[in-house]
Amino acid sequence: MTSTDVFARLPLRDDLRGRTPYGAPQLDVPVRLNTNENSYDVPPEVVEAVVEALQEQVPHLNRYPDREFAALRADLARYLGHDLAPDQVWAANGSNEVLQHVLQAFGGPGRTALGFTPAYSMHPIITTCTGADWIDGLRGGDGGAFELTAARAVEQVQRHDPDVVFLCSPNNPTGTALDLDVVAAVYEATRGVVVVDEAYAEFARAGTPSALTLLPGRERLVISRTMSKAFALAGARLGYAAADRGVCDAFRLVRLPYHLSALTQAAGRAALWHADVLLSTVEAIKAQRDRIVASLAALGLEPVPSDANFVLFGGLADEQVVWRGLLSHGVLVRDVGIPHHLRVTAGTPDETTAFLTALRATLEETR
Ligand code: PMP
Repeated sequence: MTSTDVFARLPLRDDLRGRTPYGAPQLDVPVRLNTNENSYDVPPEVVEAVVEALQEQVPHLNRYPDREFAALRADLARYLGHDLAPDQVWAANGSNEVLQHVLQAFGGPGRTALGFTPAYSMHPIITTCTGADWIDGLRGGDGGAFELTAARAVEQVQRHDPDVVFLCSPNNPTGTALDLDVVAAVYEATRGVVVVDEAYAEFARAGTPSALTLLPGRERLVISRTMSKAFALAGARLGYAAADRGVCDAFRLVRLPYHLSALTQAAGRAALWHADVLLSTVEAIKAQRDRIVASLAALGLEPVPSDANFVLFGGLADEQVVWRGLLSHGVLVRDVGIPHHLRVTAGTPDETTAFLTALRATLEETR
């Protein structure tokens, strides 16, 4: 029996009928390059610090954790810099939950959120699961099909008058960072909350400024970040955001009480104290990203310039055939639903070599 049959019998919300859950495959293959994780294990000295921090918490797990996660907020503010105070920082179980808090507080039934497709697939899912309508905005300009110019974004914002606008920089799945003039122009054009999803910010090419620099004086701007990517802590589930104090206060209306466990708070803090060690893999990953871009171009494919730890590439006759071919060689990449394109995560040098070897073989086999 499929879950659709079961759903038909259940008093499920009408708007959830016919939907499928978020589902990047979690397959047990030798080379997993499909969810933009950091391929490097947590370094031993950070493991030690996290274990010690957790150990301190365990005897006190009989008590609820600090609901306002004050110490973690202070550490996050210190890491982010830009003169942020702890009450201008928010955190949750992954940046997905941060985005959910944004939508619970500023979206919801009768409201709309606008994003520019292709972008992160969870933006529309979280929007609609929290009751708002999703508006699929369009990209495209002289710089290519995935470009988002200020003029194009502003025109759509003015036309749709959304309550929440999603920008993603560097954008998943295309990889490119947005010029800050796009963020500033969108902010001016809307009365809604503007979310800049900066999950991959640490991987941006030199000279790419963060939207954090735009925060002062913009009380409807939210910049979300995560420890899942550059920090190599996807399994810990810790995302965070910087925003105006009032916005962070509004998140307190919708979060579940004690949403961040004492263990998550302690692990996050210990990791932040070792941020330099954890982030030391970033340059090596960027080198692999650039190697992937150059190698794909040399193969006659069309890699999109990337500021992230992944590369979207086009020029494939049939992306599904290539996806399956790579899998048969033990390499899992992501089919993001863009015709003739696939997305691959940049990991270790060996993973890049395995991917490129498998790709050459697949292209040969499917020619
Ligand atoms: N934003 C973007 C653009 C992402 O790609 C991801 C993860 N793939 C997330 C947010 C969510 O990550 P997490 O919940 O692990 O912080």
